[in-house]
Amino acid sequence: VARTAVRSLERALRGDVERTPSALARVARDGSHLVGAPIARVAPRDVADVVALVRWARRNRTPLVARGAGTSLDGESVPRAGSVVVDLSGWNRIREIRPDERWARVEPGVVNRKLQAALERRGWFFPPNPGSWETSTIGGHVGTNASGPRSFRYGPTRDWVRGLDVVLGTGARVRLGSRAPKRSLGPDLLGLLVGSEGTLGLVTEVTVRLAPRPAVRRGLLVPLPPRIALGRLASRLASIRGSGLSALEYLDAECARAVAEDRATGWPVGPALLLLEVEADDAGHAARRVARLTRTLAALGVRGAVREYDDANRLWSQRGESGRVLDERYGERIREDVAVPLPEVDGLLAAIARMAARERVSVPLFGHLGEGSLHPNFVVDPTSRKATRLRAALYAEALRRHGTISGEHGIGAIKAPYVARELGPAAVGLLRAVKAACDPDGILNPGKLYPPPPRAGPRSARSPSAAAGARARRA
Ligand SMILES: Cc1cc2nc3c(=O)[nH]c(=O)nc-3n(C[C@H](O)[C@H](O)[C@H](O)COP(=O)(O)OP(=O)(O)OC[C@H]3O[C@@H](n4cnc5c(N)ncnc54)[C@H](O)[C@@H]3O)c2cc1C
Repeated sequence: VARTAVRSLERALRGDVERTPSALARVARDGSHLVGAPIARVAPRDVADVVALVRWARRNRTPLVARGAGTSLDGESVPRAGSVVVDLSGWNRIREIRPDERWARVEPGVVNRKLQAALERRGWFFPPNPGSWETSTIGGHVGTNASGPRSFRYGPTRDWVRGLDVVLGTGARVRLGSRAPKRSLGPDLLGLLVGSEGTLGLVTEVTVRLAPRPAVRRGLLVPLPPRIALGRLASRLASIRGSGLSALEYLDAECARAVAEDRATGWPVGPALLLLEVEADDAGHAARRVARLTRTLAALGVRGAVREYDDANRLWSQRGESGRVLDERYGERIREDVAVPLPEVDGLLAAIARMAARERVSVPLFGHLGEGSLHPNFVVDPTSRKATRLRAALYAEALRRHGTISGEHGIGAIKAPYVARELGPAAVGLLRAVKAACDPDGILNPGKLYPPPPRAGPRSARSPSAAAGARARRA
């Protein structure tokens, strides 16, 4: 069946259609433990080709999975069995940069790093900077509403998308948003597409908003005393007027030690760390802002030697090593991603420590503290019952504390069984109605984001991750 389908696909499309085992293996995984079973990888040539592809998929009832760099962490870009992967990584041209109007038009496969380099030369930047920024794409950022350290000041991708060209699951082409700096036209359809994980439409062009690059960006590495109340600390730092604080990150002692020992970072080995970025107009301005911040820190009991980086990017590159370091030191683990209001951060951290102790696993943790966004890395086989118990306990705790099951990574296959717990039945109904309007045949990235129908819910599944994996593996 697959072979016949692929032959008809080759006739329908002008772009490349590949189905060699190595081509399929390249697009079968993302950054999670799940493995998919696609029947083809296609690289559409242009928008007309994308429309032809969607029409073909509707006729053949075949799933399509959009793919940028495939770095998502919850199976967002893992193709369910029998899917065709729509690889847009080759759509990597920056079409137009208009600093005078503060926007740039890019193809979805443009890697964040490439866009930043092009903007930097002109004195601008695109604020979302996920840890994966050197490889992940703008289309992928739209898919997951990605964010990074600087979203403390600037907000997530959703705040930086001004327009999208999309081919919906119906095959219709829509252009959402406007080049006008502001607009007041009905509910936000553009925002609806952001974070939709390729389940509503295939994005063929993104118009991003630009921010002026600050003249000076200082990085600060701050050792923390034990048992400091982090939520209160973050609120106090966030409320200093005119501090220029644009990132407020945290590494617990275990994570910080791993990075400090691994590289010639020169980081102090031992304490948990705060990593801050301060923006300023010139060196004197930066010095005054840094002095104000360190005074506030001292007043809050944080009196260790603060190390200053002239260029915050150096600090972020060192911090960027934490994923690799944890991979090498701990191997398999679940890389979680929940967020809570700042007053709940310490309660959540204590609960995470209790969960880890109960299950006898270690849990190096880092996070975007200024946004209450935490990444506990439970060191456990992601397909095990223990992993399922830890996930369920973590999400329940985040929700009990008025938080969310995903601060920034998205839902994918792994968290889909838990979505209803956060949204409730009425909002899930709304979500399904949007899906039905955009993708009536359910061909776009099935098995992701939306809770499974009640009968296949988490109670009946032995393990949601195992169930998702099994779904993805089934041929
Ligand atoms: C080391 C590491 C660090 C990370 N750090 C962060 C972080 O700090 N913050 C954060 O938010 N995330 C982080 N991530 C997760 C991930 O990198 C981001 O979600 C990123 O935006 C995904 O981009 P991508 O190009 O890899 O997208 P993919 O994984 O290819 O796709 C992601 C989703 O978007 C959809 N999609 C992709 N392109 C399109 C398109 N053109 N049209 C429609 N849908 C599309 C896919 O179907 C999928 O559902 C990290 C991942 C890794 C491995």
